[in-house]
Amino acid sequence: MTKYVCDVCNAYEYIVEKGDPDLNIPAGTLPADFPDDWECPVCGADKSHLQKA
Ligand SMILES: [Zn+2]
Repeated sequence: MTKYVCDVCNAYEYIVEKGDPDLNIPAGTLPADFPDDWECPVCGADKSHLQKA
């Protein structure tokens, strides 16, 4: 599993193999390919704060 964590809140975790259905992110999508207006659902940070865990 490839996991990313928001480095602002440390609460939001994103697993590439699962995607995020709540945010309409299909499985297999890397954070670099998220929409530019993506925001962390916990703290509102932009996608540049998703760091590989
Ligand atoms: Zn966050």
